[in-house]
Amino acid sequence: MLPWSDCEAFFEPDGSLRDVYVIGGGIPAWEGLLRIARTRDAGLEVDGEERPLPALATEALALRQARSPLLSIDWDGIGLNAHFFAAEDVELDLDPRAICSDERFEALIGFMATLAGETGKTVILTPENDQGRPYLAVSPTGEAVVVAPPSTRGAGEGSDLQLVSASTESASPPRMPACACDDVPPVHYLDEAPEGWVGGLPLVASAPWLTLRRCQTCRAYWAVDGWDKYAERVIVRVPSEDDWVERAQAIELRKALLLRSRGGAGEEACAWAGCGGRVVVGTVLCVDHLWEGGVRR
Ligand SMILES: [Zn+2]
Ligand SMILES: [Zn+2]
Repeated sequence: MLPWSDCEAFFEPDGSLRDVYVIGGGIPAWEGLLRIARTRDAGLEVDGEERPLPALATEALALRQARSPLLSIDWDGIGLNAHFFAAEDVELDLDPRAICSDERFEALIGFMATLAGETGKTVILTPENDQGRPYLAVSPTGEAVVVAPPSTRGAGEGSDLQLVSASTESASPPRMPACACDDVPPVHYLDEAPEGWVGGLPLVASAPWLTLRRCQTCRAYWAVDGWDKYAERVIVRVPSEDDWVERAQAIELRKALLLRSRGGAGEEACAWAGCGGRVVVGTVLCVDHLWEGGVRR
């Protein structure tokens, strides 16, 4: 069980709500939420009028086009509200003041574990409307993880993931869902990454023109170039948060990627006077001189 004392700061009242998300869960995840809602006698309101719970999640999502559907679940004293904003991500909000004790915190983790189990997806708790910066994550098998403390995020300390079992039976090792981290090259162009993969990796730190993300499943770190209309964006796997900026920006890594993406080295010598290096396939220059000339891909 995650200790409440480690997480209390996530719920300090600041006038904003907290969100629970199933990112990318789609309609099946909304259906999972409705199944849970039915076990708790939850209510649906549409523009303030009480209605029976919809049989299908798509009905509530369709209502959203012109009305304001609101699903409210009372989970052991915690009010959880879903507004059906988007079909793609299940989103619920809660008032952080409701999480005021050990028991309430356990109940919230219990809800997240139930939703994760029901949907087969990791469930995260985030600041309001800030799905890229989760505080906590709970896996479908019930493992609860502190992703990053609220105030120290990006400051280097205390942002290590802690893996603690939320269930009382912790005898069997946690079974983690598959991730893409080992299926992609450790250095590649961002547009070669599997669709939606990078966006699903929670942000753990940032630097100018660079962000650090961490896989919730295998805990790999990935440094991602920021957007720049003149540059080819690159994503680099780094071993830890130590020196991650330097490692990610290492020119040798990027030159190696340039060389690989152009098919490797050819037989001829670089045309640059006195160089002697081997050309990059399809060019008359070596990789160093191509790089010097501003070629990045
Ligand atoms: Zn991974
Ligand atoms: Zn050269």
